[in-house]
Amino acid sequence: MTNQIPLVQGREYLAIPGPSVMPDAVLQAMHRPSPNIYDGELVEMMPALISDLKRVARTRHNVAIYIANGHGTWEAALSNVIAPGETVLAPASGRFTHGWAEMAEGVGAKVQLLDFGTASAWDFDQIDDALRADKDHQIKAVLAVHVDTSSSIRNDIPTLRRLLDDLGHPALLMADCIASLGCDRFKMDDWGVDVTVSACQKGLMTPAGLGFVFFNDKAQAKRATMPRVSQYWDWQPRANPDLFYQYFNGTAPTHHLYGLRAALDLIHAEGIEHVWARHEHLAKAIWAACETWAQGGALHLNVTDRAHRSRAVTSLRLSNGRGTPLRAYTENQLGLTLGIGLGMEDYDGCFRLGHMGHVNGQMIMAMLGGMETAMAALDIPRGAGALEAAATTLATQTEPSD
Ligand SMILES: *Cc1c(COP(=O)(O)O)cnc(C)c1O
Repeated sequence: MTNQIPLVQGREYLAIPGPSVMPDAVLQAMHRPSPNIYDGELVEMMPALISDLKRVARTRHNVAIYIANGHGTWEAALSNVIAPGETVLAPASGRFTHGWAEMAEGVGAKVQLLDFGTASAWDFDQIDDALRADKDHQIKAVLAVHVDTSSSIRNDIPTLRRLLDDLGHPALLMADCIASLGCDRFKMDDWGVDVTVSACQKGLMTPAGLGFVFFNDKAQAKRATMPRVSQYWDWQPRANPDLFYQYFNGTAPTHHLYGLRAALDLIHAEGIEHVWARHEHLAKAIWAACETWAQGGALHLNVTDRAHRSRAVTSLRLSNGRGTPLRAYTENQLGLTLGIGLGMEDYDGCFRLGHMGHVNGQMIMAMLGGMETAMAALDIPRGAGALEAAATTLATQTEPSD
């Protein structure tokens, strides 16, 4: 390997599950001097920005924007609706649910954790049991991570909603869509989600720094009963500001707002249904390649059932700890950066592909070609014809599956 000519000059592809690839339009929108924060363009663009953001989450309700990453939105959402001593239910399909549950403990909640491991979607029988056992409705919210970015499992939120409704359980349904908003099909209002948290650096293609908490009237009713809410996390003034500075409880994230504006323009010009269909079609090509490589016995997709796979991130396992050398090869030799394994037992064997946001067919084929090259260089056993399988998938028109 050491005497190979490095092939890294040229545009690099950061194929990790966030931050995602930034479109040139976003970069260019941010390249400007500081704007006036008292009046003028920035202030005037807020109402349309808010309504375009809500369109992406498919909600007519409210959104509060925070200068925060995804972790910040976890705390923001909890702070508005969960009082110390109240219970939340956390069905976990990977590391990110545990993270949100730990955050809940940090704000004084009692957490009832249902741990389904790192390769299984929610088991609705167990969730059903937990909700039925909660006869006096101690559980005030279910922390539902839609796509867990560590395992790449995609959970079924509409079924969870139906379960709560069938049992007449009043807990808030709170969804983490940080890895799925603008990638995987998600409809907040149609699906009956009460609170949705997301962030800007994944499907929304903007540098990390903006966090979003969408909430409906039911969530706001719970907010109104809270004994206290920290002024900074309070979603009320942010969602219904009388003055511009109240959107952010202080100075606005000026450049991020311009970047987000450009990203939303891209999403709405393409159409959210098409954005979802593009992610799905590209993901199917990735799965076709990976399933072919898997025939060699060394590589495995973490999620076996296609119905539970994210369309934006794919977790993989390579035997004999060869994930880390594979990532090193693609990065140092090819200019392709793949994601580390997160929250898995075998750090060196696991790695992830990010395919969220500003990605197209040639980028996905290049990413897969990079992996094929690395596996050839490292002499990793693999099924033949993976790139052919991916190309055939891309070339074949398919119906979106849900
Ligand atoms: C990325 C991610 C987070 C954490 O977001 P940060 O911006 O890194 O704090 C939380 N949940 C999910 C599902 C994510 O993908």
